[in-house]
Amino acid sequence: MSASSNTTNYNLKELPFELVENPTQQNGGDNDAAHPASWNFHVDSGNKTAHLTLIANNDEACLSDLIPVAHQLCDIINRLAGQNEIENGAEISCKKGCASCCSYMVSLSSAEAFFLQKHILSLPAEKRKPILHSFLLAARKIAANRMPLVNIPAKNESQSLKSISRWYQKMNIKCPFMKENTCSQYHARPLVCREHLVTSSPKACCPSSGMLSSTVELPISTAELLMELSNLLELTRDEAIILPLAMVWCNSNAQRGVQKYPTALLAEQFIKAISAKTPAMA
Ligand code: SF4
Repeated sequence: MSASSNTTNYNLKELPFELVENPTQQNGGDNDAAHPASWNFHVDSGNKTAHLTLIANNDEACLSDLIPVAHQLCDIINRLAGQNEIENGAEISCKKGCASCCSYMVSLSSAEAFFLQKHILSLPAEKRKPILHSFLLAARKIAANRMPLVNIPAKNESQSLKSISRWYQKMNIKCPFMKENTCSQYHARPLVCREHLVTSSPKACCPSSGMLSSTVELPISTAELLMELSNLLELTRDEAIILPLAMVWCNSNAQRGVQKYPTALLAEQFIKAISAKTPAMA
């Protein structure tokens, strides 16, 4: 589901937040004079560090407005982790066009669900309609299989999530974004798809192969980070939304999708969550 390069292609200057990679930045330095609402931070993976600046272009934003920068951050972390793997003689198998792992259950934070809803609704009709139809078919299949919950526990290790994953697997649901065996919305794909980075053969990612894949350990899970942030700001607890139910869920929770927060609050909480998972620099 992932690639080790930066594959986002949003025009970030038109969005409330912008993430800029700055190799010469002194960590914890002053704000960029040209952008008073900016925050410097860094992420590490092994012996690699990326120095970054988060810039707020507006005064207010929705939680889902952080998703484009979360995608960018995730791709940067993947790049650093991938470089370490390559230096150690391994090869990253994930690339655009590979869909070996795309039958697993994909879970989203509320922020990602609303981001995907906005993204899908912004697509031209010829792309939007088949995707919406696929979401509808998948949601009907889930309803027919008597899945009672839209929200599931967010912690991957929990037993309940494992049993829901098994239930999901049995339904053999095609991801609503899958078209001709490839991800039709690769640049906007969810964070958990981006974070699945492997060095093993793509075959090992197929649930039916019975093989074990070798996943690259990432220093920060941006998907978990967004879930934590959503929980904190929306006062929810371990909330995750199954991808095919995202459109239904967003319609039922429309008010949350338009909730605005001061961009400074969103940015500071985002950086705080990252810094809590990143050792301070010497
Ligand atoms: S969104 Fe669907 S098709 Fe795209 S990478 Fe994720 S699982 Fe695969």
